[in-house]
Amino acid sequence: MSDLIYPEVFYMDFLLNFKKNDDRTYIKIIEEQIQHNTIELLIDFNDLNKYNNNFSKNVLNNPEEHLKQLELTIYNYLYDKYHNIINNQIRIKIKIDNLKKLYLQDIKAENINKLICVEGIITSISQVRPMIEKTTLVCNICKRQITFIPNNIYFNPIKLCPICREKSLRIEYNKSIFIDALLLIISNNKRKIRVLIKGNNIKNYKLRDKIKLIGIVKIINNDRKRLNKYDIMIEENHSYKI
Ligand SMILES: [Zn+2]
Repeated sequence: MSDLIYPEVFYMDFLLNFKKNDDRTYIKIIEEQIQHNTIELLIDFNDLNKYNNNFSKNVLNNPEEHLKQLELTIYNYLYDKYHNIINNQIRIKIKIDNLKKLYLQDIKAENINKLICVEGIITSISQVRPMIEKTTLVCNICKRQITFIPNNIYFNPIKLCPICREKSLRIEYNKSIFIDALLLIISNNKRKIRVLIKGNNIKNYKLRDKIKLIGIVKIINNDRKRLNKYDIMIEENHSYKI
């Protein structure tokens, strides 16, 4: 199967035709939510596997790209079929469940940017704070504006203006988009790991709660990056108390 040639056709076929145990298709579950501003679709990883093994591998190995593609496929379908019902600002969030569990201590470099499932006890919970999702940098000298999307929790925007080559960029906070974010630390006595939870996914977890977490392993650049050693963090896709 050359699944990467027309991924949207392939995704659409899965959504329209794969039947869950209760005989519903995923598109039926989506259509039940079209009046909402946010559509949440929980996909059972076993269903992906049953439908097509390459499909499930793609989601595991390149979740960022494939989950975004899947969300876009759903958006386009809804827009075509229900454009006078749906809100154009509708947010579609795909969550994955039922992945094979990995122990925290077994997360290695090979898992970076991959989708994994772990369990752990919450040993620290931060305050909910706004995090910059997208911002505009403006050059004090040539006035050029640059869009900047930070790719990790340590906000470290470029300082050098790419046009006039001066260290003259400043952040325009009033032209920034913020999202709520929360940091957890989860532990299993062998390893502790940081977890980032964003936006509508933030839940009322308490210290000592044991959770199951599906998320993407990310590296964190910090000030010691010249050593070319990185910390890792999991960006949550789906989690719940167990
Ligand atoms: Zn400049």
